[in-house]
Amino acid sequence: MKPAAFDYVAPRTVPEAVDALGSAGRDAQVLAGGQSLLLEMHLERVRPDLVVDINRIPELDTLRVVDGSLRVGALVRHHVFESAQAVPGPLGSLFSLAVVNIAHPPIRSRGTMVGSFGWGHPASE
Ligand SMILES: Cc1cc2nc3c(=O)[nH]c(=O)nc-3n(C[C@H](O)[C@H](O)[C@H](O)COP(=O)(O)OP(=O)(O)OC[C@H]3O[C@@H](n4cnc5c(N)ncnc54)[C@H](O)[C@@H]3O)c2cc1C
Repeated sequence: MKPAAFDYVAPRTVPEAVDALGSAGRDAQVLAGGQSLLLEMHLERVRPDLVVDINRIPELDTLRVVDGSLRVGALVRHHVFESAQAVPGPLGSLFSLAVVNIAHPPIRSRGTMVGSFGWGHPASE
């Protein structure tokens, strides 16, 4: 199946993305890795009026520790966590052991950790 018609924007900054989402309301969807959203759109289980593609916002592709808290940008892909050095300390080792259980390499190279939380599918590991 093909998705129903939708509008598409690819903002370059977070404020632009927030404005686009705010103007569209509940019928907008964020496109991160697309590994869940595009399937749902093809099956027409999700029919957004607007898709806001955040892949051109470089500041979202960052992984930082700030004041002892891990901040995972909305574009950090699953595969980044496969390196135990990506996150300092024991948490990095824990992530590297866990993340290889998520799907397979092509999915992990596109899918994002934040997208997984955002989607919140009960079958996600
Ligand atoms: C074949 C296959 C196998 C998989 N196996 C596993 C598995 O074993 N374990 C597992 O955990 N996952 C699995 N997944 C899911 C994978 O982890 C996805 O990458 C993830 O669920 C969604 O991430 P994404 O970046 O692709 O999000 P997208 O598909 O781009 O978006 C998914 C949803 O989240 C929303 N969203 C995304 N980013 C944001 C944001 N920043 N703010 C607000 N909303 C946002 C979107 O609007 C959309 O509704 C699998 C997927 C596939 C296709």
